[in-house]
Amino acid sequence: MSATVHTPSRSVRARIARRSARYLARRPLTPRLQRGLVSFTFDDCPRSVLINALPLLERETWRATIYACVGLCDTRNHLGVHMSEEQLVEAHLRGHEVADHSFSHLDAAAVGPDAMRGDIARNRDAFARLGLPRARSFAYPYGEATPDTKRALAGEFELLRGIHDPKGAAVDLNLAASARLYEDTVDAVLAQIETAAKERRWLTLFTHDVRRVPSAFGCTPESLSRVIAACLQHGVEVLPIGPALDRARESAA
Ligand SMILES: [Zn+2]
Repeated sequence: MSATVHTPSRSVRARIARRSARYLARRPLTPRLQRGLVSFTFDDCPRSVLINALPLLERETWRATIYACVGLCDTRNHLGVHMSEEQLVEAHLRGHEVADHSFSHLDAAAVGPDAMRGDIARNRDAFARLGLPRARSFAYPYGEATPDTKRALAGEFELLRGIHDPKGAAVDLNLAASARLYEDTVDAVLAQIETAAKERRWLTLFTHDVRRVPSAFGCTPESLSRVIAACLQHGVEVLPIGPALDRARESAA
């Protein structure tokens, strides 16, 4: 992913496959939480996340999950410059969870489960080389998943995250919903936080670059601050995906 930006297929067939993937090969979990729970996640590894976003969360003693492709380190694309390998390690040392997003940002619907698994193994080797813990969860690049990929990756990760909007309290651990936190969805996210608090749900949010002039897939530090303020106002708990999943599992037991 350098000069050209890959776009997943928009054909009718691809759209039907994308929808049906949500209903097949599921691994459901229905948390029964005492309190609303929010997880902030950042996909790829834009340097602006480290500089502008993580400090805002750290100010509240909160931590996030970064879905990192080590293959993107030090590259530049529409999301800006990406973190170096050392900066990924720094995020980990600051208490954030660094999780898997494949090494090369592969589209699972385009390449199939075997290529996906190979690329994930490459990312896992890079994590080990950098001294990062083995990733507990994975976010599908572009949110693209197929039933075959869901089945193939179910044994590799405790949770696989997608990019479709959440509906209800149940979580499919093989393709977990996540609400996009983009500059044009901030009001919707504020409403989703209120719902998560009221109905004691686990809400995961995802975005990319966080900077004064973000891409169409990111938001400004001001918007992130509004979302943080809403979490404080509604009294939700904020945890990275791994610890949040522990909390969700305990509550469901
Ligand atoms: Zn991505």
